[in-house]
Amino acid sequence: MSIKVIIVGSKGRMGQALLACAPKHRGLQVVAQIDQGDDLAAAIDRGDVVVDFSSHAVTTHVGTLCAKHKKALVIGTTGHNDTETFEIKQARKEIPIVWASNFSTGVNTLFWLTRKAAEILGPEFDLEVVEMHHRLKRDAPSGTARTLAEILAHVRGLHLKEATRHGRVGIVGERTPAEIGIHSLRGGDVVGDHTVIFANTGERLELTHKASSRDTFANGALRAAEWVVKQKPGLYDMQDVLGLK
Ligand code: NAD
Repeated sequence: MSIKVIIVGSKGRMGQALLACAPKHRGLQVVAQIDQGDDLAAAIDRGDVVVDFSSHAVTTHVGTLCAKHKKALVIGTTGHNDTETFEIKQARKEIPIVWASNFSTGVNTLFWLTRKAAEILGPEFDLEVVEMHHRLKRDAPSGTARTLAEILAHVRGLHLKEATRHGRVGIVGERTPAEIGIHSLRGGDVVGDHTVIFANTGERLELTHKASSRDTFANGALRAAEWVVKQKPGLYDMQDVLGLK
């Protein structure tokens, strides 16, 4: 029997990619498409799993509904503030959730490589993250850039918020080893580029991932949907789905 999927944000760029990719996932069946003005509450009992690629502000409501109706959840939205993050995480006590800032296999490999490189290279290397996305993206930095900075801060034992420098302007003084720079470029139709720079005197290592199609995120999210329905309540990410942990 196929797993029944409800897509939230179905008319958006990612929603359309999910609908285009879903037929290739033979174990899945899309049973409802929800966008602005539609009533998720009325449709939710038709599904086994909800895949949300709407907007950060909508995900809190989606999470509460999924917890109430005991439906698994895949969260693709990014840009949540601390309150939204806290509220969304409450649902993990009731249902299994895969929450990933990026569902591509390549980017999840980049996460793994970033952790390894930070461990190997040590504190002499300065850390900077650069991302570029299309001109219509609303949040900055990207969720993926935030995840990369989280990984770097974790390895270095830094407090993420204190360490982060979002761009630099004016007389900011010399760079300190306790900084993680994040820089967001916006323009054109770029699907998503991320580079992590490890810079020391005399050498520099750069790890780069470039997405050229949203299908990579959509296929990853659909793979996560197939996986999450079989899990116990809890919070998982794409590294769990791919077995990279
Ligand atoms: P988009 O603006 O093209 O689409 C969002 C859609 O959500 C729109 O159709 C909008 O009408 C709909 N929406 C708004 N409010 C809604 C509501 N209350 N109920 C249902 N639908 C509602 O955006 P996008 O480029 O498709 O990106 C969507 C989200 O996914 C963003 O947060 C983006 O950062 C994120 N994203 C994540 C990944 C990943 O791999 N995790 C990849 C790409 C994009």
